[in-house]
Amino acid sequence: MSKEYNETYNRVYNFSAGPAVLPEEVLKEAAAEMLDYEGSGMSVMEMSHRSKVYDKIIKDAEADLRDLMNIPDNYKVLFLQGGASQQFAMIPMNLMKNRKAAYIVTGQWAKKAFQEAKIYGEAVEVASSADKTFSYIPDCADLPIPEDADYVYICENNTIYGTKFKTLPNTKGHTLVADVSSCFLSEPVDVTKYGVIYGGVQKNVGPAGVVIVIIREDLITEDTLPGTPTMLKYKTHADADSLYNTPPAYGIYICGKVFKWLKKMGGLSAIKEHNEKKAKILYDFLDESALFKGTVRKEDRSLMNVPFVTGSEELDAKFVKEATAAGFVNLKGHRTVGGMRASIYNAMPIEGVEKLVDFMREFEKNNG
Ligand SMILES: *Cc1c(COP(=O)(O)O)cnc(C)c1O
Repeated sequence: MSKEYNETYNRVYNFSAGPAVLPEEVLKEAAAEMLDYEGSGMSVMEMSHRSKVYDKIIKDAEADLRDLMNIPDNYKVLFLQGGASQQFAMIPMNLMKNRKAAYIVTGQWAKKAFQEAKIYGEAVEVASSADKTFSYIPDCADLPIPEDADYVYICENNTIYGTKFKTLPNTKGHTLVADVSSCFLSEPVDVTKYGVIYGGVQKNVGPAGVVIVIIREDLITEDTLPGTPTMLKYKTHADADSLYNTPPAYGIYICGKVFKWLKKMGGLSAIKEHNEKKAKILYDFLDESALFKGTVRKEDRSLMNVPFVTGSEELDAKFVKEATAAGFVNLKGHRTVGGMRASIYNAMPIEGVEKLVDFMREFEKNNG
């Protein structure tokens, strides 16, 4: 850090689903380095992405991510743009050699990816939890996956509905592709079980504008669908180590700081423990409350996104309003589902959840 940054601010507890809370330590460091990054005399925003200084930033970020996730050498790490939504198209464009893929539809993001894939080939919905408003993860032990499917696609943590795959689907030998936007780096993962893991970083890792793609090398080929733009080929970015064109340079720098913060916290096993402790405080309260109820089947509950309702739209609105006034912000559920949702990503401190539960208890007493 170049200079101490000791200003104090009136920070709220931000339960936004994304862009979301980041570690205060990271924000302070970035603030201290804003005008002069490590003696370069400029901000990271102002420097060439081809400079030596920046090269170290992006290389360190990749090395720290590899270290955290234990990413094997035969996987590439790509820092791309276009958000998670652009991957909905990039995946079929690059991976649909047989023009066929299996999709497990467990929420809106999975559905959007499924619909996008239909533009490029035969996307087959092999399982869905739409029958119960996506409040559970379907049994994926023996799905009717077409023999010639190029991959099986999941959204591993469903940000809007608050469900999470606790066991990965049986892909019957097919390549697994997973959108992990809202559970990225929240717990250890076995990268070798996946062909592609990707996520927009604005949920749990950094500022909007970066999407990280971790992809097994054999899936990176010239053999993309006809008409695939250069910028949408994984090979373009893999060959250039994510520097084919100007990358989202400042965003990657912040992600790198978050990786270092996670390592300091003890890595992904430690952060998982921290996340479980946090989520338990909220879920235990929801299970005992006479007013608030969780909306997700217990065994499928996400550690990151916790939707809940009072059963009355009026009370929901009153709660959100009073919570906001008390400094607990962005608790309104997604516009398509209503109710409330507390997103409690890595950077949300335990005391944020404890205080929220105290507030909910008090609200229940006054409105029960
Ligand atoms: C937010 C989100 C997306 C969309 O991300 P963008 O970066 O806005 O395209 C996709 N998938 C999941 C699981 C998300 O939470």
